[in-house]
Amino acid sequence: MEKYDILVCADILEQEYDMYNNGFNYLVPCMVRTSGWQILSNKFINFTKSAILCFEYDFLPSMFFCQVVVYFLRRFKLTSDSDNLSGYVGELYRDVALFDINDTGCEKVLLCSHKNSIQAQIWIWGIGMENTGRMIRGLLEDDMFVIQRKYDVMKAVEIKIKCPESTLISNKGGINLESLRPVREYWCKEHNIIHDCLLFKQYWMLNVIVDDTVSEEEQNFIRVSKASVEVLTDILYDLANASACPITKPRNECDITYLYAELRRQGLCLPSRGRWGGDNWPCERVAVNVGDDIERIRLNRNRLQHTSHFEMSIFEFTDRWKKLNALAKRFDARLTPAVFYEDRLIRLNHYLGRKLDFQNFQTKESKGTSNLQLKQIKAFAFAK
Ligand SMILES: [Zn+2]
Repeated sequence: MEKYDILVCADILEQEYDMYNNGFNYLVPCMVRTSGWQILSNKFINFTKSAILCFEYDFLPSMFFCQVVVYFLRRFKLTSDSDNLSGYVGELYRDVALFDINDTGCEKVLLCSHKNSIQAQIWIWGIGMENTGRMIRGLLEDDMFVIQRKYDVMKAVEIKIKCPESTLISNKGGINLESLRPVREYWCKEHNIIHDCLLFKQYWMLNVIVDDTVSEEEQNFIRVSKASVEVLTDILYDLANASACPITKPRNECDITYLYAELRRQGLCLPSRGRWGGDNWPCERVAVNVGDDIERIRLNRNRLQHTSHFEMSIFEFTDRWKKLNALAKRFDARLTPAVFYEDRLIRLNHYLGRKLDFQNFQTKESKGTSNLQLKQIKAFAFAK
C-alpha cells in the first residue's frame, strides 16, 4: 500500500513509535481532514506572521504535499491542543499543517498547499528568533529536492514571496523573491499598496546584507519610544511606589496605561485644572502639579501609540525632547532616584537606533492594548 501512496510511513518522533507492535506510524492521506485553513485562523490569535514563502511549480502530483508533511513530521511535532478534544493527532489537514518549531511552542511553521504551490509561513508569539525563516527554507528545499526526484517532478519554477497578511489559499500578490534583492519596497497586487520588503528579505532570503540604518526621523521616534518605555514608565512606577499604598506588581509587568490608571485611582495628585484626562498638553508654564506631569507622560505615550508613521520630525522631536527633559528634572527633585531620570534621557540623546528597535519597542509597549492594535503593530514589525 505504501507503493501506491495509500499509506505513507511517517516514522515520526520517537514517542509515536509503537513499542508493542514494534512498527511505525503511518499517515493515511485519505483519512486526513479535508480543509483546515479556516479552523486554524479561528483557533490561533495574537501572533506575528512572517511573509509567506511560495514555491511554485508547473505541476504537482496530489501526494506531493503529503510527502512534504511527512518529511516535516520527522523533524517537528505537530501543533496540538492540550485537551485534544478533536481526537486527531494535531493540526494536520489535507491542504495545511502546523508544526511547533521547538518545545516552547512560541514559533510555529505553517505549511500549505494551494494549486501547484507549496507555501510556508512562520507564526510567532513573542520576539521570535532571527534565523528561523532561513532555517525552515533550507529544510524545506532539502526535503523537496528528494521528493521531486521520487515523483519525477521538475524543480520549482519560481520562488515567490507574499506579504504577511496575504491569504495562503490564493496565488495572488506573490512576487519573485530574487527580484526584491536590490530594492527596498514593492507594490503588493493583493492589497494595492506599497510594502517595505526589508524584513521579508531578511527573513527568507539567503545571503542578504541587512540594511540596518535608520533615518533621522526614525531615530527621533526610537529615542522618544525608548524614553517612554524605559524612563517615563520608571517614573510612574517609582511615583506609585512612593505613595501611601504602593502597588504590588513587579516593574516588568507594569506599563504606562496600568500605572496611569493606578495613580488616577489613588487620586492623590490631581492635575492643576482639577480633573484627569483630555487631549491637550498641559501648559508648560502654569501647569506644574505632579498630576500635570502624569498627564504629559500619558499624552506622550498616546502620541507614540496612535500613529501610522514610525517617524518624528526634527521640529517635533526638539520641542518634545526639551519638554520631557524638563519633566524628568522635576521628578528628579520630587523622587530623588538613585540614577537621575534626566541623566538617563541625556544618555538617550546619543542612541542611534536600529531597525530591530521598532519591533522591540512595539512588543513591550503593546501590553494592554487591544487585540486589533496589537495586530496592527505586529504587522508593522514585520512589514517594516
Ligand atoms: Zn500585501
